[in-house]
Amino acid sequence: MPQHETPHRRACSHTRYKLSCAEYDELMHQADYRCQLCHRSAGETGHGHLVVDHDFRVGDWAGRGILCSTCNGKIEYTDSEDPARAAYLGNPWYRRMLASRGLRVELAEPPLGTTVHAGRRTWRRTPNGWCSLDRYRGRALTWAQIHRRFGPHNITLLD
Ligand SMILES: [Zn+2]
Ligand SMILES: [Zn+2]
Repeated sequence: MPQHETPHRRACSHTRYKLSCAEYDELMHQADYRCQLCHRSAGETGHGHLVVDHDFRVGDWAGRGILCSTCNGKIEYTDSEDPARAAYLGNPWYRRMLASRGLRVELAEPPLGTTVHAGRRTWRRTPNGWCSLDRYRGRALTWAQIHRRFGPHNITLLD
Protein backbone atom coordinates (compact mmCIF):
# COMPACT_ATOMS: atom_id res chain seq x y z
CA MET A 1 0.00 0.00 0.00
CA PRO A 2 1.56 3.34 -0.94
CA GLN A 3 1.97 5.74 1.98
CA HIS A 4 1.36 9.44 1.64
CA GLU A 5 4.24 11.82 2.02
CA THR A 6 4.34 14.04 5.07
CA PRO A 7 4.80 17.71 4.13
CA HIS A 8 8.31 18.80 5.03
CA ARG A 9 8.45 20.38 8.53
CA ARG A 10 4.68 20.74 8.64
CA ALA A 11 1.96 18.73 10.30
CA CYS A 12 -0.18 16.70 7.91
CA SER A 13 -3.42 18.51 7.13
CA HIS A 14 -5.41 15.41 8.16
CA THR A 15 -4.46 15.95 11.82
CA ARG A 16 -7.16 18.61 11.86
CA TYR A 17 -9.60 15.72 11.46
CA LYS A 18 -7.92 13.82 14.32
CA LEU A 19 -6.71 11.27 11.78
CA SER A 20 -3.31 9.64 12.26
CA CYS A 21 -1.14 9.10 9.19
CA ALA A 22 -2.06 5.39 9.29
CA GLU A 23 -5.77 6.21 9.47
CA TYR A 24 -5.45 8.65 6.59
CA ASP A 25 -3.68 6.01 4.50
CA GLU A 26 -6.45 3.54 5.36
CA LEU A 27 -9.08 6.07 4.30
CA MET A 28 -7.31 6.69 0.98
CA HIS A 29 -6.79 2.97 0.42
CA GLN A 30 -10.47 2.06 0.96
CA ALA A 31 -11.34 4.82 -1.55
CA ASP A 32 -8.89 3.30 -4.04
CA TYR A 33 -7.24 6.76 -4.16
CA ARG A 34 -10.24 8.17 -6.04
CA CYS A 35 -13.22 10.38 -5.30
CA GLN A 36 -15.81 7.95 -3.97
CA LEU A 37 -18.62 9.60 -5.94
CA CYS A 38 -17.25 10.61 -9.35
CA HIS A 39 -14.23 8.23 -9.23
CA ARG A 40 -11.70 10.77 -10.44
CA SER A 41 -8.15 10.39 -9.14
CA ALA A 42 -6.34 13.40 -7.65
CA GLY A 43 -4.56 13.93 -10.97
CA GLU A 44 -7.88 14.00 -12.82
CA THR A 45 -9.24 16.90 -10.76
CA GLY A 46 -8.38 20.44 -11.84
CA HIS A 47 -6.12 21.13 -8.84
CA GLY A 48 -4.56 17.74 -8.16
CA HIS A 49 -5.88 16.77 -4.76
CA LEU A 50 -8.68 14.96 -2.99
CA VAL A 51 -10.15 15.91 0.38
CA VAL A 52 -11.33 14.14 3.51
CA ASP A 53 -15.12 14.39 3.68
CA HIS A 54 -16.42 14.32 7.23
CA ASP A 55 -19.82 14.45 8.89
CA PHE A 56 -19.58 17.72 10.79
CA ARG A 57 -22.80 16.95 12.68
CA VAL A 58 -21.00 14.02 14.31
CA GLY A 59 -17.61 15.68 14.68
CA ASP A 60 -14.47 16.77 12.88
CA TRP A 61 -13.05 13.29 13.53
CA ALA A 62 -15.90 11.56 11.67
CA GLY A 63 -14.34 11.00 8.26
CA ARG A 64 -16.94 9.62 5.85
CA GLY A 65 -14.59 9.07 2.94
CA ILE A 66 -12.50 10.68 0.22
CA LEU A 67 -14.04 13.08 -2.28
CA CYS A 68 -12.91 15.59 -4.85
CA SER A 69 -13.64 19.15 -3.76
CA THR A 70 -16.46 19.45 -6.32
CA CYS A 71 -18.36 16.46 -4.91
CA ASN A 72 -17.48 17.52 -1.36
CA GLY A 73 -18.97 20.96 -1.97
CA LYS A 74 -22.21 19.49 -3.31
CA ILE A 75 -22.83 16.58 -0.99
CA GLU A 76 -24.62 18.45 1.80
CA TYR A 77 -26.87 20.36 -0.57
CA THR A 78 -28.01 17.71 -3.01
CA ASP A 79 -31.46 16.34 -2.40
CA SER A 80 -31.30 13.92 -5.29
CA GLU A 81 -32.06 10.29 -4.62
CA ASP A 82 -28.86 9.27 -6.38
CA PRO A 83 -28.24 5.66 -5.25
CA ALA A 84 -24.43 6.09 -5.30
CA ARG A 85 -24.69 9.07 -2.98
CA ALA A 86 -27.12 7.24 -0.69
CA ALA A 87 -24.80 4.22 -0.56
CA TYR A 88 -21.82 6.43 0.23
CA LEU A 89 -23.62 8.31 3.00
CA GLY A 90 -25.07 5.10 4.41
CA ASN A 91 -21.69 3.43 4.89
CA PRO A 92 -19.27 6.05 6.22
CA TRP A 93 -15.66 5.11 6.92
CA TYR A 94 -15.74 6.28 10.57
CA ARG A 95 -18.47 3.78 11.43
CA ARG A 96 -16.50 0.91 9.87
CA MET A 97 -13.31 2.11 11.60
CA LEU A 98 -15.04 2.22 15.00
CA ALA A 99 -16.69 -1.18 14.45
CA SER A 100 -13.30 -2.73 13.60
CA ARG A 101 -12.08 -1.54 17.02
CA GLY A 102 -15.18 -2.78 18.84
CA LEU A 103 -16.47 0.77 19.37
CA ARG A 104 -19.74 2.53 18.61
CA VAL A 105 -20.39 6.16 17.78
CA GLU A 106 -22.54 6.48 20.90
CA LEU A 107 -20.43 6.69 24.03
CA ALA A 108 -22.37 7.16 27.26
CA GLU A 109 -21.10 9.87 29.57
CA PRO A 110 -19.08 8.31 32.39
CA PRO A 111 -20.15 9.11 35.99
CA LEU A 112 -18.97 12.06 38.10
CA GLY A 113 -15.35 11.78 39.19
CA THR A 114 -14.31 9.72 36.15
CA THR A 115 -11.04 10.64 34.44
CA VAL A 116 -10.48 10.21 30.71
CA HIS A 117 -7.58 10.82 28.38
CA ALA A 118 -8.42 12.60 25.13
CA GLY A 119 -6.40 14.81 22.82
CA ARG A 120 -3.15 14.59 24.84
CA ARG A 121 -5.00 15.86 27.91
CA THR A 122 -6.56 14.37 30.98
CA TRP A 123 -10.12 15.38 31.76
CA ARG A 124 -12.20 14.80 34.89
CA ARG A 125 -15.95 14.99 35.18
CA THR A 126 -16.86 17.51 37.88
CA PRO A 127 -20.29 18.93 38.77
CA ASN A 128 -19.39 21.84 36.43
CA GLY A 129 -18.51 19.68 33.46
CA TRP A 130 -15.31 18.09 32.12
CA CYS A 131 -12.22 19.97 33.32
CA SER A 132 -8.75 19.56 31.90
CA LEU A 133 -6.33 18.55 34.66
CA ASP A 134 -3.30 19.67 32.63
CA ARG A 135 -4.35 23.25 32.23
CA TYR A 136 -4.62 25.75 35.03
CA ARG A 137 -7.49 27.78 33.59
CA GLY A 138 -9.35 25.76 31.00
CA ARG A 139 -13.04 26.12 30.36
CA ALA A 140 -15.05 23.07 31.35
CA LEU A 141 -16.51 21.15 28.42
CA THR A 142 -19.69 19.16 28.12
CA TRP A 143 -19.50 15.46 27.27
CA ALA A 144 -21.02 16.23 23.87
CA GLN A 145 -18.16 18.66 23.20
CA ILE A 146 -15.50 16.13 24.25
CA HIS A 147 -17.13 13.45 22.09
CA ARG A 148 -17.52 15.78 19.13
CA ARG A 149 -13.96 17.07 19.34
CA PHE A 150 -12.07 13.80 19.81
CA GLY A 151 -14.33 10.88 18.87
CA PRO A 152 -14.84 7.58 20.74
CA HIS A 153 -11.59 6.12 19.34
CA ASN A 154 -9.54 8.97 20.87
CA ILE A 155 -11.15 8.84 24.35
CA THR A 156 -9.66 6.45 26.93
CA LEU A 157 -11.20 5.84 30.34
CA LEU A 158 -8.50 6.02 33.00
CA ASP A 159 -10.36 4.60 36.01
ZN1 LIG B 1 0.16 12.18 7.54
ZN1 LIG C 1 -15.88 13.73 -7.19
